Amino acid sequence: MLGPPGAGKGTQAVRLAEHFGCADIATGDIFRANVAEGSQLGRIAQEYMDRGDLVPDQVVISMVMARLAEPDCTRGFVLDGFPRTVAQAEALDQRLAELGTPLDAALNFEVHEDELFRRLAGRASALHRSDDGEQTIRHRLEVFAIKTRPLIDYYAHRGLLAMVDAVGPVEQVTARLLRCLGEDPALVAV
Ligand code: AMP
Repeated sequence: MLGPPGAGKGTQAVRLAEHFGCADIATGDIFRANVAEGSQLGRIAQEYMDRGDLVPDQVVISMVMARLAEPDCTRGFVLDGFPRTVAQAEALDQRLAELGTPLDAALNFEVHEDELFRRLAGRASALHRSDDGEQTIRHRLEVFAIKTRPLIDYYAHRGLLAMVDAVGPVEQVTARLLRCLGEDPALVAV
């Protein structure tokens, strides 16, 4: 899943993983759990997360590669928040080529920036996320534009990109995503 912070990737990743009975790998959640545990990975990640910067590629890539080797991933997986840079996408391609399991799709969540800001500010007060302060939100949106947006072209060139209107009721967005993945939302509970 590709898309800026606040686009609803986390909410939809849970729903798609449930639908397909596959693993849901959310790198932000893994980092937050490590910060809460006080692990070494958490200590490394925290300063980047608090600033709204990306955690360095080597750290993220080795974490995700280890996660992909866990048994629940053999049935497939939804990736939420990874890859976020071209280097991460290349590492993922290489691993998937080794496993002989190509990506089915890269789903790009489209949401206007004003709406993102509104959603992120709401989440900041609801969830007390330390990276949802106003300055940090702006910075995270800039980081997305510079580092992650190039992945839209990356996956378009590979014929894997689907653009999804991510504004509207949660169920409707899920139905749009399922349609992009070749499922018939009318026949499934979303
Ligand atoms: P998220 O919950 O996906 O918005 O991620 C929260 C924060 O975790 C991001 O702002 C980054 O600091 C870090 N993070 C999550 N995924 C990645 C990634 N793929 N690459 C680098 N940093 C990441």
